[in-house]
Amino acid sequence: MKTNSAGNSSAGNSSVGNSSIGNSSVKYGPATNNSMKDRLMKSHSMKLLGSMVLSLAISHSSFAADEAIRQGIADHYDSHLSDLFTWFHQNPELGFLEQKTAERLAQELRDLGIPVTEGIGGTGLVGMIENGPGPLVLVRADMDGLPLLEDSGLSYSSRNRQIGRDGIETPVMHACGHDMHMTTLVGTAKLLMDTRDSWSGTIMLVGQPAEEIINGAKAMLDDGLYQRFGVPDYAIGLHVSSGMPSGMVAVREGIVQSSADSVDIKVRGIGGHGAYPHQTVDPIYVSSQVVIALQGIISRQINPLSPAVITVGSFQGGSKHNIISNEVDLQLTVRTDSESTRDQVLGSIRETALNIGRLNGLPDDLLPIVSMGFESTPTNVNDSDAVQRVLLAWEAQLGYNPLVTAPRTGMGAEDFAYFTQTEHDVPGVFFSVGGTPPALMREIAAGRTNAPPHHSPFFLIDPSSVKAGVEAMYTAAIELLQTP
Ligand SMILES: [Zn+2]
Ligand SMILES: [Zn+2]
Repeated sequence: MKTNSAGNSSAGNSSVGNSSIGNSSVKYGPATNNSMKDRLMKSHSMKLLGSMVLSLAISHSSFAADEAIRQGIADHYDSHLSDLFTWFHQNPELGFLEQKTAERLAQELRDLGIPVTEGIGGTGLVGMIENGPGPLVLVRADMDGLPLLEDSGLSYSSRNRQIGRDGIETPVMHACGHDMHMTTLVGTAKLLMDTRDSWSGTIMLVGQPAEEIINGAKAMLDDGLYQRFGVPDYAIGLHVSSGMPSGMVAVREGIVQSSADSVDIKVRGIGGHGAYPHQTVDPIYVSSQVVIALQGIISRQINPLSPAVITVGSFQGGSKHNIISNEVDLQLTVRTDSESTRDQVLGSIRETALNIGRLNGLPDDLLPIVSMGFESTPTNVNDSDAVQRVLLAWEAQLGYNPLVTAPRTGMGAEDFAYFTQTEHDVPGVFFSVGGTPPALMREIAAGRTNAPPHHSPFFLIDPSSVKAGVEAMYTAAIELLQTP
C-alpha cells in the first residue's frame, strides 16, 4: 500500500469495526463475543473503528462453511506457512531488488508443481495453474519491503540491510505486510492445486515487485504480462490491515483507493543579492505563489463533490540569508477518486505553475519545469458485479458478509489498479484482511495504545492472519472461476 506518508490508507480501505460481527458460530476473529464487543465499543479508539463499519450482518441461513477447507488451511499454516511467513519477514528487500524474495516465492510455487516464469518487469514472477477450460483469474501478491529499521520488538524482527537503487545502504523491513501477502499467495496456490479436481479454468499467480513506489505492477504490464499470459477475466488482490482485528475480511464496492501521482516542479528564477530583489526573479517567492495557487485548484476549479488532494511534501531551495537563489524544487503528491478529476488536476497543476512563472516575468526558457508520470497509479476501483458474487461466496464460507459501506478515511493508493484499470478493463476485487492480534486489539480498545501504523518501525501483524487471507482469496478465486 502506498501512502506517500500522507496518512493511513489502511484505515481507508479496510475499516472494519465490530458492530455486528458477533456470532458464536463464527470460530475466529477477536470480536466475536458480546462482552468483548461491549468493552470495545466503550473505548474512544473504537469509536473510530465502530463508525467505519457497517453491514457485517451474519447470514445464518446461508452459513455453510466448508470446514475441510478451513482445516486444510490451518494444517498447512502449522506445517509450513507459519515458517514461510517468518522467512519472508526476516528477509525483506526493497522494490525491484526482491531477488531472494522472488527466488523463494518461485521455488515455493514450483514445489507445488506450478510452472513459474521469473524476471517479468524486473523481479516480478508469474505462476500458471492451467486446469482446463474456464475463466482466467489473476491472483496478486506484492513482494517489496521498506527502508526502515524494524523496532517492532518481535523475536523474528528483520535485521536485513540492502544497498538501494540509489547506492545507499539502508535497513529493510516488511512494514506494510507484503510478507503476509506472499505467504497467502502460496497458501492459496496449494489449496487450488489440492482441489483442482473440483474447478476448471486458469489461475495466474502474480508476485509483483515494487508496490511501495507504485511502479511494479506497471513494470510487469509494460513487460507484456497480458500478452504473454493472457488478459485475465478477473483480478484479485488483498492487503493486510493494522488496526483491524486479525482474521476479519472487509471489502468495498466501487472506489477502494485513490489515484496517486508524484509531480516534480522545478521553479527557476534569476538569482542575485538579497538586498537587490528588483534585479532578480526570486524563485522562492515564485514557488510560494505556486504552492498557494495549487490549493485553489482543489477549492475553486474542480467539482467539490469529487475529492482531490494536492500535498506539497518537499520545498527545497536557497543556501543563505542574503542570496536569492536560482531555483527551487517542489515535490507533490496528488490524489483523486476519479480519472477525469485526475486529468483535470494534473493539467491544472502544469498550467498554474507555468502561468505563475509568466506572471513573475520569467522568460519562456526559464518557466517552471513540471514533471509527472514517473510515479503514478490510477484509481483502484472494485467491480460491483464481481464483488457481489464474491460476497455471496464469502458469506457462505466465512459466516458473515464483509461488505464495508462506511466512507473511506483517506486517500491512500495501490498500484493493483494497473491490473484492472488500464485499457484492458479487467474486473477487480481488492479486499482487506485484519492483521492486529487479539491481545493488541484489547489494548487498543482500552485506550492504552494505538495500532502500529503501516510504514512505521513498530508495524507488526499477526502471522496467523494468513489463514483468513487464504480462505478469503481461495473462496473468491473459486467463485470467479465459475462462469456466471
Ligand atoms: Zn502495502
Ligand atoms: Zn505500503
